[in-house]
Amino acid sequence: MKKIPMTTPLVEMDGDEMTRVIWKWIKEELICPFVELKTEYYDLGLPHRDETGDQVTIDAANANRKYGVSVKCATITPNGQRMSEYSLHQMWKSPNGTIRAILDGTVFRTPIQIDPVKPVVKNWKKPITIARHAFGDIYKATEYCVPGKGRAELVFTGENGESFRETIYDFEGPGVIQGSFNKDSSIRSFAHACFRYALSLKQDLWFSAKDTISKKYDHTFKDIFQEIYEKDYQADFEKAGITYFYTLIDDAVARVVRSEGGFIWACKNYDGDVMSDMLSTAFGSLAMMTSVLVSPDGKYEYEAAHGTVTRHYYRYLKGEKTSTNPVATIFAWSGALAKRGELDGNRPLADFASALEKATLDTLNAGIMTGDLCGLCEGITPTKVTTEEFIAAIRKNLESVLA
Ligand code: NAP
Ligand code: MG
Repeated sequence: MKKIPMTTPLVEMDGDEMTRVIWKWIKEELICPFVELKTEYYDLGLPHRDETGDQVTIDAANANRKYGVSVKCATITPNGQRMSEYSLHQMWKSPNGTIRAILDGTVFRTPIQIDPVKPVVKNWKKPITIARHAFGDIYKATEYCVPGKGRAELVFTGENGESFRETIYDFEGPGVIQGSFNKDSSIRSFAHACFRYALSLKQDLWFSAKDTISKKYDHTFKDIFQEIYEKDYQADFEKAGITYFYTLIDDAVARVVRSEGGFIWACKNYDGDVMSDMLSTAFGSLAMMTSVLVSPDGKYEYEAAHGTVTRHYYRYLKGEKTSTNPVATIFAWSGALAKRGELDGNRPLADFASALEKATLDTLNAGIMTGDLCGLCEGITPTKVTTEEFIAAIRKNLESVLA
């Protein structure tokens, strides 16, 4: 079979541990035999990040800006224990955080549904996509443990000297305070990314916050979304037959559970963090979820939502065959190849990406799966396989899909 050529390189960000091992297998078995793979390779594995003083992460993110599409393997975010395990020079920041800051993006996460695994919520017929604002709020907050009696104030000093000062609380004893922020520019980017993504998927967009309680902070989010919707997207939404609506987060939670799915739920940073875990678990597992970071100027970074699966990696190092689920990583590759195909007008490449997804889903729907999914199946007796056996089964299906 003639391999599918590529024009623009994909930015490839390699990672750590079990996912790094699986990354190589996916390339060898499921991509390189079929595609004349062209990538610009960045090794984001922790040892190389350490060697380069984390410059490689910044270079990779800039390459993503340049070429438009990247695919990223899960990476270790170092903590104290990793410092000694890898003899690190520094406790490097989360690569995902660094990349998000450079791309200024919104993260979209969608569960991958298969027939044998039914969502916990019975009426969910279609996947629900979470759109998480990936900037600011408590993730960039300043906190203080109040030692005892005293006054906490909120102070802003403007560039031109104008200022604002208000009492937060007159403490009668010890307590805690927190100052969090966001920027109109980032909220605008978030809104644009959500509206564009809803149009590209032709799905309704919901946005939820708590503006009744947070009359300035959350209300600003609500107002910016509404303004941008009316100005830039309403006409296109009406043409596409989709809707945008804002509702309170507690109302949204109730509606989500009662819904059939099939829409995008935009959430502030913390809400998105929590709700995406709730949704992924209720739909199946983190290993069955796609994740893409979309920047306001249309750059895409595809990744798996889970981590480097450390416990499995230690078993792999001892020579054991593990049954680690590679589906989210396969879908990161297929998502990136499909987007590259779309942007380059490379139809065969986009078709290959769909075939890879179909072969993966066919394998799962036939009951061949990794251990994490076996316990979730209903109505069939699944066959538990190792990661390598699972990838080999997908390859067989892929060859017949392509033939
Ligand atoms: P994790 O790697 O997601 O794994 C947690 C547990 O979830 C695993 O031990 C495993 O459970 C199960 N699991 C996750 N993915 C699986 C898969 N593909 N197949 C089968 N089971 C899977 O999270 P973690 O252990 O908290 O973090 C490990 C490392 O990953 C950390 O260094 C962290 O910094 C990093 N991390 C990276 C990213 C990212 O780059 N996107 C995200 C999160 C965490 P069992 O052991 O019970 O089988
Ligand atoms: Mg989380």
